[in-house]
Amino acid sequence: MNPRTKSQDIRDLSQNDIRELVAELGQPAFRAKQLIEWVFEKNVCSFDDMTNIPKAFREQLKEAFAFDTPTELTKQVSKDGSRKYLLEYHDGVSVETVGMPRRNKLSVCVSTQAGCGMGCAFCATGLNGLKRSLTAQEIVDQVLHVSNDFGERATSVVFMGQGEPMDNLDNVLRATEILTADYGWAWSPKRITVSSVGVKNKLKRFLEESDCHVAISMHDPIPSERAELMPAERGMGIEQVVELLRNYDFSHQRRLSFEYIVFKGVNDSMQHAKAIIKLVKGLDCRFNLIRFHQIPDIPLQGVDDEKMEQFRDYLTQHLSLIHISEP
Ligand code: SF4
Repeated sequence: MNPRTKSQDIRDLSQNDIRELVAELGQPAFRAKQLIEWVFEKNVCSFDDMTNIPKAFREQLKEAFAFDTPTELTKQVSKDGSRKYLLEYHDGVSVETVGMPRRNKLSVCVSTQAGCGMGCAFCATGLNGLKRSLTAQEIVDQVLHVSNDFGERATSVVFMGQGEPMDNLDNVLRATEILTADYGWAWSPKRITVSSVGVKNKLKRFLEESDCHVAISMHDPIPSERAELMPAERGMGIEQVVELLRNYDFSHQRRLSFEYIVFKGVNDSMQHAKAIIKLVKGLDCRFNLIRFHQIPDIPLQGVDDEKMEQFRDYLTQHLSLIHISEP
């Protein structure tokens, strides 16, 4: 086990680390099971709540560990009931998280990094670069924070907030493990969707190691144009991404979707619609058209409803499952 510093978050330890810790501290092995249950399944954030653990052992744990839960800086509530939070972590970095209640369900959109290094031309987060990647527990803490605020357990998570999940893959995989493992939240991986712009080697690893749904940020099917919008195109092009996706089965439980923000005069022509159809032909996928709302300092504009519907209707003739959503 790695050396511990005071106030390390106990939830950053793996199950094995916890077993070793319990043995090191001379406690019987079953204490590890109890501790893992409190930390990952019951999600308590205080040693005092671990009522079946002897007080003396709890005091020992308090000496070495803490629960670094994020602080809520702001919360905005929308008309549709969605709540957007700005959460700050122990070192002062902050991220956005959104809770979206829909018909007895609660979906959470989590960030995986504070800032982002991908530099997409339409994204305010990308303008300021990457501050740091989040730990797995910092990602799970967003789900916990939203669940606690709504007073109900979240039912699904989309990894579509700030950051590129593949650029923080180990922590993203660990976070999805905590959410899906029997010792954790015990969710089906089908309740989780992870988005990506497409990052060489990392996307393949994710597809191999995870059963969660995948959402690819396409935004332009023409590589030279997409590179202008999304510099990541130069690392792994959209054609390579689609080629890779063709090796996996999305016809059953696992779902593949493409995200497409429609920008006026940039990616909204019939030429683009035809290129999309050609690119994804034969793939089992959904297509999400997203409205763009003007962002200060970003010289891109969204399209009106008529254009959006025309674009959707053309795609619908050739692809199934086209959906228009708000950002
Ligand atoms: Fe923004 Fe996502 Fe692009 Fe990063 S990958 S710059 S968060 S749109």
